[in-house]
Amino acid sequence: MLDRSTIDGLFPASLPEPDVWQERYPDRVLAPGAKVTRFSPSPTGHLHIGGVYAAMIDKDVALHSGGTYFVRVEDTDQSREIDGAKEQFWRAFEYFGIEPLEDDTNGVYGPYLQSARADIYLTYVRQLLREGKAYLCFASREELAAATAAQQAAKVPTGYYGAWALWRDASPVAVADALAEGRPYVVRFRSPGVAGNRVQYVDAIRGRIEMEDNYNDVVILKSSNQPLRLPTYHFAHAVDDHLMRVNLVLRAEEWIPSVALHLQLFAALGFPTIEYAHIAQLLKKEGSSKRKLSKRKDPEASVDFYVESGFPVPAVLYYLRGLANGRLATLPLTEALAAPILLSECGSSGALADLVKLEDICADHVATMPSDEIYREVLQWAATHDPELWRVMADNQDVALRALKIEREGVPNPRKDLKKWSDFRPIYGYFFHELFPLVHDLTGTPMAGIDRAVMSSLASDFARSYTDLSDPQEWFDQIRALAQRHEFAATPKEHKAAPEQYHGSVREVAQIVRVALTGSTRSPDLHAVAASLGEAEVIRRMSALTA
Ligand code: GLU
Repeated sequence: MLDRSTIDGLFPASLPEPDVWQERYPDRVLAPGAKVTRFSPSPTGHLHIGGVYAAMIDKDVALHSGGTYFVRVEDTDQSREIDGAKEQFWRAFEYFGIEPLEDDTNGVYGPYLQSARADIYLTYVRQLLREGKAYLCFASREELAAATAAQQAAKVPTGYYGAWALWRDASPVAVADALAEGRPYVVRFRSPGVAGNRVQYVDAIRGRIEMEDNYNDVVILKSSNQPLRLPTYHFAHAVDDHLMRVNLVLRAEEWIPSVALHLQLFAALGFPTIEYAHIAQLLKKEGSSKRKLSKRKDPEASVDFYVESGFPVPAVLYYLRGLANGRLATLPLTEALAAPILLSECGSSGALADLVKLEDICADHVATMPSDEIYREVLQWAATHDPELWRVMADNQDVALRALKIEREGVPNPRKDLKKWSDFRPIYGYFFHELFPLVHDLTGTPMAGIDRAVMSSLASDFARSYTDLSDPQEWFDQIRALAQRHEFAATPKEHKAAPEQYHGSVREVAQIVRVALTGSTRSPDLHAVAASLGEAEVIRRMSALTA
């Protein structure tokens, strides 16, 4: 083992002793049963919807138990950090209303960014070195690669253990020589684990879990040739969750195999263990099987997909809560959002995330919202994601509200046409003359075959004679009269009986008007649309067909 002065000489002389940190981060004063949880994303990638799912459960459990919840950004792998990842995290937390309850502005357990906690980790690395529970390793990349290749050839597990742990039992002289030569080194944990041993722990979601013990001397402090000496994830987890006084580590199931190592680290550091709960991952159905939701293959895996499309947050949270606790999916939305998520009801096998189901829930939810609330939500979404729509909506609030109210308010079955805020432009854009491209011909519609001259005279007649009538029957009589004047049958049946006498029936005329006014063969009640557009605009749009 290295002598204490050599060990201390590897660290800044001013580095605090562990008791300084223990006092700086005292035990929390908590009511019985209160849970302190955290969500700890690494900025090596963008947040996945599974991250929102985990963060939502983390925060919910903390809130309902009277504890607290924070976000710790785990940026110790700085070479793999992605530009903009941290900003994306915060956008996602804000969008989904899962901001931390505790952060650098109000919490005393920070900094909440690992790269700003480097000294804390160094204190504990030094401590483990002094106690002989960690050691310096000067193995080069090439030596490690050669060991891995030899292990593979010998068909033994790869890793740094036993006879393969080149520096575990190196003599102090060899270490002093390597240091004197200025060779870079990492610090490794001297694992007490024995190959073949089993360990157990009790998971708050899954119950007792048994696994093979860790016997790898993992790296705990990265290479000394880095300007900022940072620990690895595993070591930082133990130090931070202890000092930040977390009492429930609620995280994704992919971390279960690391628990064996984490338990060893807690023990070596002299920290009491923390309760673990591992959340089942979100799955996607593919054919008859299920697979992990994949960032690469599934757009809905990315949080940006929900933010950019403007999925209504309460509906998404409702859906996710239902995946966590099936019982919540059976409650009405408001009740389900207020009810606690119970770990005892979280499943241990993956939950199936189904975009079609989510969209149905969203459509149902939007259908319960009053028009002015939908207007506000779309406007807010458009401010960031569709500035042109934002401007037009802000300038024409009355038009937007009139449009939204059609077949929505005061009717038994309100329209379920909006699943997300980005649906507004394709569905309601035609109500705004600024967003509506005039329709000059009927190509691509079932009326495309109608003679151009017939259509043109029909459109100019309409433009000359049209009036904005409030009575729906009287309003539609105009269309009937128009049909008659231009040799369209009064009913589809009449047309069918004598097709050679007519260009079509009143149904085609109404459809021509619909396409001219809305750009589509499908729209809400035509009279309501025309009333919302106003006489001048109706005439302008119909006139475009006269050319
Ligand atoms: N930083 C880890 C991750 O990004 C978090 C693991 C944990 O929650 O302990 O997955």
